[in-house]
Amino acid sequence: MSPAELLSEPFMQRALIAALFTGLAAPAVGTFLVQRRLALMGDGIGHVAVTGVALGLVTGTSPTWTAVLVAIGGAVLLEIIRERGRTSGDVALALLFYGGLASGILISGIGGNSTATLQRYLFGSLTTISVDDVIVTMVLAAVVIVLCLGLAPQLFAVAQDQDFARVAGLRVSFYNVLVAVLAAVSVTVAMRTVGLLLVSALMVVPVATSQQLTRSFRTTIAAAMVLGTVASVGGLVLAAVASTYDVNAMPGPTIVLLALAGYVVAWPVGVWTRHRARLRAPFPDAGPTEHEPTETHPHQHGPDCGHLAVPHDDHIDYVHDGHRHAEHGAHYDEH
Ligand SMILES: [Zn+2]
Ligand SMILES: [Zn+2]
Ligand SMILES: [Zn+2]
Ligand SMILES: [Zn+2]
Repeated sequence: MSPAELLSEPFMQRALIAALFTGLAAPAVGTFLVQRRLALMGDGIGHVAVTGVALGLVTGTSPTWTAVLVAIGGAVLLEIIRERGRTSGDVALALLFYGGLASGILISGIGGNSTATLQRYLFGSLTTISVDDVIVTMVLAAVVIVLCLGLAPQLFAVAQDQDFARVAGLRVSFYNVLVAVLAAVSVTVAMRTVGLLLVSALMVVPVATSQQLTRSFRTTIAAAMVLGTVASVGGLVLAAVASTYDVNAMPGPTIVLLALAGYVVAWPVGVWTRHRARLRAPFPDAGPTEHEPTETHPHQHGPDCGHLAVPHDDHIDYVHDGHRHAEHGAHYDEH
């Protein structure tokens, strides 16, 4: 079968659609996790979701939906442990990792499922994805993308500085739980694409790459979504083309390695541009927070502009595009 013939197969087109939506959704949530230094949260939720998949297989219901429910439960539990308990974030994650993976494998074994079935979810199985799976993937991914982009200013403010966000009147706990739930949903979305054990890579690596190349928050999240899509669709196509040459490349690992290759290329570029920026800064002591006019400003900030308003000393800052802006004469300053 030629590569062109393979790409026009119905199962391949279903896989491409799933890869496209996963590539957009996973880095969108991942941006907020990276911002909060919770890069491995997706991985912890992925391990918990193994239990959900096993429950679905054993009870004969849809593993996708049981995985969504268990993943959301695990993510909310993680937030509660982090917020209420004395356990630190990484210990809470470790508890989830081991508990989720161990119970998943145990339940699956007791239910008499072959490890091969569970493996489809651990390492992804884009080529066995059904029409129903594709529809669920599209709907869940769309919900994740719309909420991440629509609530970006609030989510960014909370991820950036919890105390500041609390003072500004944001419901910090609510947004923390929301990010955890969105992470859980995108883990389930990415489950069929890259698999539960590699899920976190697609949430984190495109964001890390994007951070090397971009500076503002808006461009970081946009570039991360583009990079995630290129990696997931590109990785799938690469694996498919390899299979026509009798090379058994699994799509999940191919996608992750392609994303990592992007980081390897972007890293020196990031080092170089940051070095250049330092050379160009004329007064390094002045500090960017003092007075830095923003380049472009599409609109006049005011009480009714819809952006979060934060009283700050004798003036009001507006959270806009992930930054705090304050009016200063005829322009706006970055604060
Ligand atoms: Zn505004
Ligand atoms: Zn200010
Ligand atoms: Zn502004
Ligand atoms: Zn100014």
